Amino acid sequence: MNTLNADLHCHSVVSDGTLTPEELAQRAKAQGVELWSLTDHDEIGGQARAAAAAAACGLDYLTGVEISVTFLHQTVHIVGLGFDADNAQLHRGLQQTRGGRSQRAQEMATDLARVGIKGAFEGALKYAGNPDLISRTHFARFLVETGVCKDTYEVFRKYLTEGKPGFVAHRWASLKDAVHWITQAGGMAVIAHPARYKFSANEELALFIEFKALGGKGVEVVTGSHSAAECVSYTETALEFGLAASRGSDFHSPAESRTELGSLPALPGQLTPVWQLLAERIQHARAPARV
Ligand code: AMP
Ligand code: MN
Ligand code: MN
Ligand code: MN
Repeated sequence: MNTLNADLHCHSVVSDGTLTPEELAQRAKAQGVELWSLTDHDEIGGQARAAAAAAACGLDYLTGVEISVTFLHQTVHIVGLGFDADNAQLHRGLQQTRGGRSQRAQEMATDLARVGIKGAFEGALKYAGNPDLISRTHFARFLVETGVCKDTYEVFRKYLTEGKPGFVAHRWASLKDAVHWITQAGGMAVIAHPARYKFSANEELALFIEFKALGGKGVEVVTGSHSAAECVSYTETALEFGLAASRGSDFHSPAESRTELGSLPALPGQLTPVWQLLAERIQHARAPARV
């Protein structure tokens, strides 16, 4: 069960990835993924396409989303898996979460103009497959295109992050709302890439305690954002808090992503995989026709 090649975190052109849901399904299949989820930021408009493409190429599928949350003045990402993609409350909540992105992007461009980088709003928008979902990744692509930085990793070291040009503080959904929207739609809430946050030990403890109390059930242990040591550390956290464990590459683009779909190590054996608890929510691919 733990050795299943599940990849339950990636992005398409519906948010800040560069491949379509169909291209991702085919790539996941070719990379040996056995259970897949498309988890676009704050948007489930790609779910029907992803599920259909998964079925067509023989991949089992779980619905997915990655919700932006503000917790203790930092941005935390909560992945939702296995929800009903037609749920009205989830749709409304995500629409509300996406709402401030355009205004924020204008403010980011104004701040970049102050350091001499002109036209960033229009430049970033050109990369946004979904104009409602303009994100820092689209700005990063514009800064690479114009030669300001050599790759998107350099962009996030020099720009768009706290204290650097182009950063605009933003208030996303509350942890309570995000967990509630996912759970009431029949899905499971999972803390994404916990090692990425810059919390103190006490703040991180508060995140896990509050998440559990709100009905959160899982944490990403094996992700493209974790080192081997961080994977060991969050294995212990998952066991300590009685959370199921997830696995996902966070793949965005063949040109930009360091972690390929389906290429991560297996989940450590002592963990309960999220897909065990979500067995009834998996959309099974058609069995291949016998010849
Ligand atoms: P946003 O939702 O607009 O704040 O954009 C967040 C996205 O930017 C993330 O999902 C990543 O794709 C990308 N990102 C943020 N920080 C970094 C970073 N330090 N390195 C690489 N990509 C990052
Ligand atoms: Mn992203
Ligand atoms: Mn994330
Ligand atoms: Mn992600």
